[in-house]
Amino acid sequence: MLFGCSDSRLAAEIIFDRGLGDLFVVRTAGHVVGAEVMGSIEYGVDVLGCPLVVVLGHDSCGAVGAACAALESGRTPAGYIRDVVERVTPSVLAARAAGRVEAEEILAEHVRHTVDLLLDRSRVLAEKVAAGQAAVVSLCYRMADGSAQLVASRGLDAVVPAAS
Ligand SMILES: [Zn+2]
Repeated sequence: MLFGCSDSRLAAEIIFDRGLGDLFVVRTAGHVVGAEVMGSIEYGVDVLGCPLVVVLGHDSCGAVGAACAALESGRTPAGYIRDVVERVTPSVLAARAAGRVEAEEILAEHVRHTVDLLLDRSRVLAEKVAAGQAAVVSLCYRMADGSAQLVASRGLDAVVPAAS
């Protein structure tokens, strides 16, 4: 199952060469997490039995850019866009606190943070990972060459022994 950014260039089935019926996909701007996202992911893992949750972030992400811009200008966007920006902001702050200020480093922090968030918030997911029945990984997708780099993983060894 894939949890990624809503960006039009991040079409999950096209990127991973999958067809109808292959992927359970949840996407939000900047892959920010709310209750509906948690419920959808728990449904995929617990009810459908998906063994792998892939968090997919990407370079030139508008949501990450908006969070950086809001921090720099001190101005938060109006409406519910503010909600998206506020959910990306902790990742930007964490990256900065660690001295990581390049766009690529901020994105990596955000996808890593998203994996942590999913496992912290969802007992269902955390228990599946602890039992070796599911894994959560995060990837950074690069638009220019279509490559995806593994940033972080939890429980991957148990689900895919050869992957380590
Ligand atoms: Zn994006």
